[in-house]
Amino acid sequence: MISANYLIIGTGPIGVFTGKYLLEKNKSIVIIDNSEKQSFQKSIKLNLKDSNTKGHVYDFDHTALYKNKDTLPISSKAKGGFTKVWGGTLNRASEKEIEKLGISKEKYLEIYFSILNQIPHIEYDDVYSNFNKNKSKFYEIEKPLLGVGLNNNETWSSDLLLDKLLKKYDTKIEYLNNINVTNISKSGKLFQLHTENKIIEVNVEKIFVCSGSFTSTKIATKMIKGEKFTISDSELSVWPIFKFGKKIRGPEEKREINAFSKDKAIAKLLIKFNKRDTEVKCQLYDLNEESVNTIIERMGLFSVIFKPLINLLKDRLFLVFVYKDSFHSKESLFEISQKKPKIIKIKKQQKKLYVMTFFYNFLKLGFFLIPIKYKFKNYGSFHSGNSIVYKNNIEYQFDDQGVLDNFDNIHFIDSTSIKFIPSGPFTVSSIVNSVNILEKLFNDQ
Ligand SMILES: Cc1cc2nc3c(=O)[nH]c(=O)nc-3n(C[C@H](O)[C@H](O)[C@H](O)COP(=O)(O)OP(=O)(O)OC[C@H]3O[C@@H](n4cnc5c(N)ncnc54)[C@H](O)[C@@H]3O)c2cc1C
Repeated sequence: MISANYLIIGTGPIGVFTGKYLLEKNKSIVIIDNSEKQSFQKSIKLNLKDSNTKGHVYDFDHTALYKNKDTLPISSKAKGGFTKVWGGTLNRASEKEIEKLGISKEKYLEIYFSILNQIPHIEYDDVYSNFNKNKSKFYEIEKPLLGVGLNNNETWSSDLLLDKLLKKYDTKIEYLNNINVTNISKSGKLFQLHTENKIIEVNVEKIFVCSGSFTSTKIATKMIKGEKFTISDSELSVWPIFKFGKKIRGPEEKREINAFSKDKAIAKLLIKFNKRDTEVKCQLYDLNEESVNTIIERMGLFSVIFKPLINLLKDRLFLVFVYKDSFHSKESLFEISQKKPKIIKIKKQQKKLYVMTFFYNFLKLGFFLIPIKYKFKNYGSFHSGNSIVYKNNIEYQFDDQGVLDNFDNIHFIDSTSIKFIPSGPFTVSSIVNSVNILEKLFNDQ
């Protein structure tokens, strides 16, 4: 039996910030996740960033099927969730995007800055200070903000905040791992957590589901005995880009003493393009050791010819990661089946947004966008949510408190219930969204 004021499912950033909020209100919490020791040893077949060293973070057992093949594992399985492998870029939604999130600008900024205060971070300005471009009607350039972990060569992860909370509020918080929730039900005053092999009775006032959009939506669909669900995506494509004119990399010495070593793949510059009511955020990465090795590995025999060329162009050639918001990205329709949910339809948006339309703006910034894009698979940006669940083909949406149908006191407050996915790294916006729901629930507004 789990007993406390509140239960939180998930120790990613949404779950841990929810825990912090409740503990500061002097409430007792139990926080759980499905991380397990054995999964550290699992062999990893998919070729993802950090998959050899941090493969245990990705939940390979709970992917979906698309055309009979596994999709990317868009669910995490770790204390700290996806922040164990994320890039740590802390990014703010634009004014127009905040409006689409359905939060007032003042509230968004108030919560956004309180979250930044809790995440140690640096402004990466080596490239920015050499770039020197003024803001225009069409673009804005910013220094990336990067969350920094315990030692200076790693990114911040939400398990650091969890460990702090476990120390500071030791009598009010309990952390349990290895509980893989598949469904939640309620009978009388008690909730039941369903796992693959047992049912755990839970005596709490509310449950906050923060297990990441894919898992949370699956749980929600099971709860209402639905058969389908949709999840919106934020499409990500990567383009090589050539910098002409003045070089933008800082002096070697300065790079070496920066918080992250030069081998770490981190965003060097944030470029924001405006087009009518839409913002497209692009992150510039340089061809560091890690990316050059990945390219060379993938080139096979060709690498013998191209390796010297790539190394020669290292100061001129960059990669630009372009993120579209959910209004301009695909949405997938999943069907629950015996084994894994299957993607049965991928809906394209009517509103089209072509990255090449920014070609001229890139030129004005001194970049030649090379038209060879690498498009990530569905959910490749790991920024997804805004889910809808279907039962007998009737649509069920999460309300403003993250509640689905009549399941009072079970709140889905991760990006499952977010109304819109802004362009660019969106985790801080997703935390803002969850804290905004909590404040409404606890009459803090
Ligand atoms: C490679 C990569 C790079 C990224 N880079 C950035 C970046 O630079 N900036 C940015 O803003 N965002 C980035 N993201 C996205 C970011 O990591 C996610 O938006 C964020 O982690 C989502 O937080 P969450 O708490 O909703 O879910 P998660 O972080 O996925 O945490 C979910 C938690 O729930 C637990 N859980 C899952 N299923 C179950 C279950 N069935 N039962 C019990 N517990 C369960 C997991 O163990 C985990 O603890 C990146 C993601 C990836 C994968």
